[in-house]
Amino acid sequence: MSLTVVGSVALDTVETPAGKNEEGLGGAATYFALAAANYAHVHLIGIVGDDFPEEHVRLLEEKGIDLEGLERAAGATFRWAGRYHDDVNVRDTLDTQLNVFEQFHPKLPAAASEAAYLFLGNIHPSLQLEVLEQTRARFVGLDTMNLWIDIALDDLKAVLRRVDAVIINDSEVKELTGEGNLIRGARAVKALGPRIVVVKKGEHGCLLFGEDGVFAAPAYPLDTVVDPTGAGDTFAGGFMGYLAQQEAVDNASLRRAVVHGSVVASFTCEAFGPDRLAQIDERAIAARYRAFQELAAF
Ligand code: AMP
Repeated sequence: MSLTVVGSVALDTVETPAGKNEEGLGGAATYFALAAANYAHVHLIGIVGDDFPEEHVRLLEEKGIDLEGLERAAGATFRWAGRYHDDVNVRDTLDTQLNVFEQFHPKLPAAASEAAYLFLGNIHPSLQLEVLEQTRARFVGLDTMNLWIDIALDDLKAVLRRVDAVIINDSEVKELTGEGNLIRGARAVKALGPRIVVVKKGEHGCLLFGEDGVFAAPAYPLDTVVDPTGAGDTFAGGFMGYLAQQEAVDNASLRRAVVHGSVVASFTCEAFGPDRLAQIDERAIAARYRAFQELAAF
């Protein structure tokens, strides 16, 4: 089954306690696509400038990701810079340069608009609405961030009414609903539209609020987190990719999908940028999936 993702493709400069990576491949849609490509045929919709290195294009192509919808515009690629604290759960955004992203209006090629699964990555909700006008997807997932809750709440609510699943972190649930309690908060998010809510809690794993109650998946215990950038987007790629592969969205496949999301996200944290994520294969995923089963079995 094929899966379309819309979101940022970036050059990231990241500092963590493990070192620094300047102008490496990044972007939410990049991490999502590299993760999801392990499970499904992925169409990536985004924009890059004429300074975007060819080697990154080649990597995405080698992974079988369809780049027909990756627009190349005159100007500089979107850039983001962040610095993590010794506690890598805390990061400061040092710089965001929208560059060509400022003029981005997603255009879905025919194959991308016909994909049965669609993921609306973290872009302005008005752009997410533009994508919804171009899709025939039967299952739509959504990511968002605090910024849009602050400055574009009406548009965000219009998108939420039209999606099946939202993947959101714990602080965003609180900001969106005003609920400090995650159970009540997730219920309040569901009342805005999506029937499935996945709440990410960083190194503490995630909670799935589907139609059969709550399911908890741990995060993989890593002794060294080199760079957690993109872990959330990778999680979403594993989750949506697995659902697209299974061609079924039922309670059991949703539970396995959040574990697959956690599996691929753990690889992203092991190296800078998507370096480790780009190396994994079916065997590595299967081995870590088994490790998750061990981790949570009692
Ligand atoms: P995460 O660590 O999951 O929050 O994802 C970080 C990725 O999102 C980085 O690769 C950035 O390039 C990208 N990113 C950061 N800020 C934005 C933004 N405002 N819009 C779109 N993408 C962003």
